[in-house]
Amino acid sequence: MRLVILGPPGVGKGTQAVRIVERLGLCHLSTGEALRDAIRSDGANAKDLKACLDAGQLVPDELVATIIVDRLDEPDCRRGYILDGFPRTMSQAEMLEGLTRSLGNGLSAALFIDAPDDVLIERIGGRGTCPECGRSYHHVFAPPASVGKCDVDGAALEHRADDEPEAVRERLRVYAERTAPLLGFYRSRDILVEIDGTADVDAIERQIADRLEAHAR
Ligand SMILES: [Zn+2]
Repeated sequence: MRLVILGPPGVGKGTQAVRIVERLGLCHLSTGEALRDAIRSDGANAKDLKACLDAGQLVPDELVATIIVDRLDEPDCRRGYILDGFPRTMSQAEMLEGLTRSLGNGLSAALFIDAPDDVLIERIGGRGTCPECGRSYHHVFAPPASVGKCDVDGAALEHRADDEPEAVRERLRVYAERTAPLLGFYRSRDILVEIDGTADVDAIERQIADRLEAHAR
């Protein structure tokens, strides 16, 4: 299985990616991790990457795609992989397709977990984090024993400005603008697998397992 996982902020991509990795024994690759690994490995791409980061520049799509595809060609990823957070744009998707095709390990499916904006705003808006120990809570899905306080140390939970409804709406708008074209792209390649992200975490996991199995047939 060679997968990408797509979906709006707050839909639970990260959680599902971890579960898929555990179930299918895939290598889990996020852009951030791949870039950090590339710098540590000190390979051919490390110099270009360091120059970009040191100059505070955005890492160009070509470089990100090259680093990710190099990583995909390493032994632990040859059984299969799941890409999380990449591609985000059409140009990245096209590069990924070209590069993986040349390696003979093109995508088997693009998982797209979706939920309406209102659901996502409610989910993200209910998050709270402990400034002392870093634990995360949610007032509906993972509430602390006493309202607004960390179970471990009693510290007052904090809400990120980024998680306020207006900020979330903006994040969703940017996401839709950049990522929506990817859905058409993967649909046209007949590898788009759509998942209902309004269900709970376990139900989404089962849905993914069933759909992937059907897709692989
Ligand atoms: Zn705490």
